[in-house]
Amino acid sequence: MPMLAGSTNSALKNLRCTKCGRVYNPDKINTVCPSCSGVLYAEYDIELAKEVLTPSELARRPRTLGLWRYRELLPVKRTANIVSLGEGATPLLQAYRLGQELGISKLYIKDESLNPTGTFKARGIAVAISKAVELGIKIVGMPSAGNAGAALAAYASKAGIEAWIYAPKETPKAMITEIEVYGAKLELVKGSIADAAKELAKVKDKEGIFDMTTMKEPYRIEGKKTMGYEIAEDLGWNVPDVVIYPTGGGTGLLGIWKGIKELIELGFIKEEKMPKMIVVQSTGCAPVVKAFREGRSEVEAWPNPKTLAAGIRVPKPYADYLILEVLRVSKGTAVEVSDEEIINAVKEVARTEGIFPCPEGAATVAALRKLLEQGYVSRDDVVVAVNTGSGLKYIDVLMKYM
Ligand SMILES: *Cc1c(COP(=O)(O)O)cnc(C)c1O
Ligand SMILES: [Zn+2]
Repeated sequence: MPMLAGSTNSALKNLRCTKCGRVYNPDKINTVCPSCSGVLYAEYDIELAKEVLTPSELARRPRTLGLWRYRELLPVKRTANIVSLGEGATPLLQAYRLGQELGISKLYIKDESLNPTGTFKARGIAVAISKAVELGIKIVGMPSAGNAGAALAAYASKAGIEAWIYAPKETPKAMITEIEVYGAKLELVKGSIADAAKELAKVKDKEGIFDMTTMKEPYRIEGKKTMGYEIAEDLGWNVPDVVIYPTGGGTGLLGIWKGIKELIELGFIKEEKMPKMIVVQSTGCAPVVKAFREGRSEVEAWPNPKTLAAGIRVPKPYADYLILEVLRVSKGTAVEVSDEEIINAVKEVARTEGIFPCPEGAATVAALRKLLEQGYVSRDDVVVAVNTGSGLKYIDVLMKYM
């Protein structure tokens, strides 16, 4: 393939609806499937991507490029449109001491707290904002439990575009301050992220806001899938046995799944094995856990969701059918943990590993303990627990428990 100056050599081919299979042109602005409202997924010309992107080529690319090391498999076409604050390329840390406490020898923490704005949300927003710039979008908006809004605000600043964020009143103070400091428009709403979404819906057409809601915009997941790329690459192009993810809207979990599937298609991963994917939610908001237990293919909205883990306080994920399908296909499972177990796990991870995890990230460790007790995870499994963000962003919440 000729290397074009200023081109990312993105092998993006089209967008395909995950429900009805219809195909859409990615050079136009897309949201969900106009025909059936299904989630749209980006598809790539894998053969084309392989002409440039190989494991040895990747080994030559510096980690300072962050997730843009994988640019052939990302949707942005012109390098000039990339809006980056240094997202991605976070460490996969082997957690020896925590593993010892839990009785497991191959435990890894994918530490996403090192991203810009302190959470993995930066990955998805970096790619989505870059693509929005490429498509000429000038105003973006979203309902947010806090972290996505903070990331959106930051990347909108870097891109020089406008961001409107609707967040629940109970959003942790650090995130609210962050959004304000970046100069985004912020409205605090009574209730949950679902109520925030209703407020955005009222104004978005009138104000010309492009809606970046989780899974209603096709490219945030493209940023998130690079977590899957990095995990496999850091394990020497191997797939872990188990990935544990704190799940709200589901982009993180679905992204890792999509990423690993693409690596198998590319032939970078030789063994045709997929990890068991584990959803973790809080007992105060566990709609996916409930739906999974009941064998449903859709989620019922959780009434009155309550948990200090703001990022997973999502009463009904839009991509519910995709999350439940991944759980079934991967022979994974869904676990709920209490806020008390979450707080204990925050302290345990910090004390044993020197990582100050966000409550959502700590929830994966609380869940792992249960899964080991149940014998679902065995003591020699390779387990990746994702710490989705920094505990510092929850300082006002966590101080109360110290
Ligand atoms: C948003 C968020 C989650 C949940 O991620 P989804 O992709 O929405 O499932 C988990 N942890 C933190 C810290 C978050 O901000
Ligand atoms: Zn469709």
